[in-house]
Amino acid sequence: MSKVLIVEDEQAIVEILNFNLQKEGYETAQALDGLEGLNAARELDPDLILLDVMLPGMNGFDICRTLREEGRTVPILMLTAREEEADKVLGLETGADDYITKPFSMRELLARVKANIRRRALDAPAVAAQKDGLYVDTANYAVYKNGVKLDLTQKEYDLVCFLVQSPDKVYSREELLEKVWNYDYFGDTRTVDVMIRRLREKLEDDSANPRYIMTRRGVGYYFNAGGQA
Ligand code: CA
Repeated sequence: MSKVLIVEDEQAIVEILNFNLQKEGYETAQALDGLEGLNAARELDPDLILLDVMLPGMNGFDICRTLREEGRTVPILMLTAREEEADKVLGLETGADDYITKPFSMRELLARVKANIRRRALDAPAVAAQKDGLYVDTANYAVYKNGVKLDLTQKEYDLVCFLVQSPDKVYSREELLEKVWNYDYFGDTRTVDVMIRRLREKLEDDSANPRYIMTRRGVGYYFNAGGQA
C-alpha cells in the first residue's frame, strides 16, 4: 500500500484529502505545520508528499529544498494557493516534481498523485546507455556521471530514462508531459523546461552548453546519442 504524507495546515483540506486518498486505497499520514511535516517526511518514508506552500513554522519551498538537499528522492506534489506563475516555477526549482493550484478538483489531484507515485512504472527495458562520462543503467534505475551515482528525483530519473531510450528522437514538451508525467489532459509545458534545466545542472559539465540533453529549437528535447553536440 502506498503511503501519502499530507503537509497542510487547513484541517478541512486535510480531512477531505485523507478521506479521498484512503478511499483510493492509500495509507495516509498528516502534518499540520512545516517543521512537523519535515520531520514526518524524514521518519515515515512516504511514497509521495502533498506539500502545501504556506505553512506555519516552515514553508513548503524550504521543506522541499531541505529534503532534496538531504538526498531524498520521494515524489513531491506542491499545493499552491497562488496563481502566480513565479510560485509554480519556484516550487519546481526547489525540487518539487509537480504542483497543483488550489482550489483543485479531487479527481485531478488523485490523477496527479497516481501519476507521480508510479515509481519506475515507465516500461524501461534493461538497457544501459553509455556516453562519454554518463552511464544510464535503466535495469537498476541509476544514472552515473564519471562513475558517481547522481542524486536524481524520481521525475528527473524518469525523464532522462525516457529520453535515453530513443536517442536522437526529438520530443515536444507536450509529448514529454504525456509520456513522462502521464498527463493526458492539460499540463503546463513550463514544467518540462524547469525539469530539463534541473537535469542539465546535475548531468552536464556546463549546463549552458549541454552535450547530453539537447534542445531542438522550436521543437523540443532529445538525448544526444553521440558525435557532435
Ligand atoms: Ca496553508
